[in-house]
Amino acid sequence: MTTATLTRAESKAAHDRLVALHGNRCSICGRPPREGGRRLDVDHDHKTGRVRGLLCHRCNRGLPAWATAEWLRACADYLEAHTPGGIAQHGRGM
Ligand SMILES: [Zn+2]
Repeated sequence: MTTATLTRAESKAAHDRLVALHGNRCSICGRPPREGGRRLDVDHDHKTGRVRGLLCHRCNRGLPAWATAEWLRACADYLEAHTPGGIAQHGRGM
């Protein structure tokens, strides 16, 4: 099995390094953690164990461990196509 997990000490060290490098903001949405709330999560590649960045709980929870960049781009295309004013206009001229 190739699943890698970070120990609590490794996670804390990675968190401290990322905060020093990038500031205490989510790598996706850019928000800082809530005051008095939980710290940002250390996000890592679930196949390799490599640390990717800091994520807020909301972004981390919304990013499946199996997600690929290709799949996420397809999701963005899908959402844009189904946004009012987008390509798919259900009920109009169909
Ligand atoms: Zn976020």
